[in-house]
Amino acid sequence: MEKSFVSAQIEFRSVTKLYGAIAAVKELSLTVHRGEFLTILGPSGSGKTTALMLLAGFVAPSEGDILIARKSVAAVPSYRRDQGIVFQSYALFPHLTVRRNLEFPLEMRGVKAAERAARVGRMLERVHLSELGDRMPSQLSGGQQQRVALARALIADPPILLLDEPLGALDRNLREQMQGEIKRLHKEFGKTTICVTHDQEEALTLSDRIVVMRAGQIEQIDTPEALYDRPATRFVASFLGEANILEEPGFKLELDAPQSAGTVAMIRPERVCIAAPAAPKRVDADRRQYVTGTVEDMIYAGSLRKYHVRVGGGVLVVREHVASGQQTFQFGEEVRLDWLRSDLRLVTR
Ligand code: ADP
Ligand code: MG
Repeated sequence: MEKSFVSAQIEFRSVTKLYGAIAAVKELSLTVHRGEFLTILGPSGSGKTTALMLLAGFVAPSEGDILIARKSVAAVPSYRRDQGIVFQSYALFPHLTVRRNLEFPLEMRGVKAAERAARVGRMLERVHLSELGDRMPSQLSGGQQQRVALARALIADPPILLLDEPLGALDRNLREQMQGEIKRLHKEFGKTTICVTHDQEEALTLSDRIVVMRAGQIEQIDTPEALYDRPATRFVASFLGEANILEEPGFKLELDAPQSAGTVAMIRPERVCIAAPAAPKRVDADRRQYVTGTVEDMIYAGSLRKYHVRVGGGVLVVREHVASGQQTFQFGEEVRLDWLRSDLRLVTR
């Protein structure tokens, strides 16, 4: 579902940040729309945090400019940029109660005590923490601390919210729960949000758009579905989900269109079907390629079953949803794989 955005709120114009000879961020150009949830995704060291710190004003660009609401913020110090920030480590004031932690940004802005108390009360309710207002951070679980950090970032009602690996310190279940919470808060408060993560699932779940970064540069920007379904490069294909890269597959790959130089074919594991060698073919067999191979490995993961199948010179990964009455295959068994030729993607090397 595409959202329509009123206008651009944040603009990076060819921003470079050098640390000595290393460009942590290189010629970054990016527009973020009002109300958008944009995720910066990339491996460790790809420049995600630096991009966020540039926007927050904690780091100054070596070259280029950043605009917020069409105005350069080059001369605006970080405390004036009116952004709520949440980091991976909770960074609550350990010596202040939850309530006092939330009051802090309001105090900094000169909000009077009675008004502060009222706003903190309302915010505690909205993030479902009303009973915990008088606790110290050390008396909260990791998830609760991160909820307080989110509430504190939102309480002064900044138009922009910056999140750097906000759920990185939480375990898997809690992380999923908090993803839901962040999504709900984004819907409810409608803040323009930039979230940094190296977790692809988190990026896919939360974002309107994802920016994939590699070595300080943008590799691709698009909606989660478009990025997953039509990755432009081999790097994006492999970083966002699992990909069968058919570089030298050891069999003749059938393609609907000629393959241009510098590209390699790719197919997602869930687009490959597995069956017994003699199983009847599908009605759309003329649009499919069939190959035979040998099962090298089967990994059972509850709702999913993953096969590694040796075909020709390489191994193809097949991912299948577990269903009733399904035939399963064991190590060493011969199987037939097939896929729609239209499910192949050509990505640049
Ligand atoms: P990410 O958040 O994607 O892991 P960072 O933005 O933290 O990446 O870092 C990008 C690159 O810049 C890395 O190579 C890192 O070592 C370098 N870098 C980041 N901050 C500094 C700094 N203060 N001094 C020197 N190098 C830095
Ligand atoms: Mg980082």
